[in-house]
Amino acid sequence: MKPKDPDCIFCKIIAGEIPCAKVYESETCLAFLDIAPVNPGHALVLPKGHYPTLMDIPAELGSELTETLSKVGRAVMEATGADGLNLMQNNHEAAGQLVNHAHFHLVPRHSDDGLQLWPQTGYDNPDEMSGLAKTIAGLVK
Ligand code: 5GP
Ligand code: ZN
Repeated sequence: MKPKDPDCIFCKIIAGEIPCAKVYESETCLAFLDIAPVNPGHALVLPKGHYPTLMDIPAELGSELTETLSKVGRAVMEATGADGLNLMQNNHEAAGQLVNHAHFHLVPRHSDDGLQLWPQTGYDNPDEMSGLAKTIAGLVK
């Protein structure tokens, strides 16, 4: 099989041109271990089609992707004896996306791993929050 995007490292993995530690494959999805894991067992789940971000993935792939995330997530937790699991997904460089082929990170977590992956802030006032909610709600298509 030829890579769908010849410049994309994940398309090359899907095409078998670059090896990976595969954990699951279906007609439309692939899952393999991240080469630089947050914790051992950190897996990546991706559609085989080259869609740059989450927002480009066709809706009809949604249920297969969700099912794959559940199946692989359960297996990652069982294999690593994890106490928890983070699902993370980066879109665009500003959000830390390094590979422009949409993918989901499944990161096994242990109660004592000491990681803080999700620092949070607040809003200056309640109006800022409700105003932003209204703007976003008006743009959901
Ligand atoms: P992103 O930052 O785009 O959300 O995540 C890309 C992930 O892909 C990174 O965590 C990185 O370690 C992983 N990665 C990059 N190149 C390769 C590769 O060739 N093989 C594997 N298995 N993982 C890769
Ligand atoms: Zn690709």
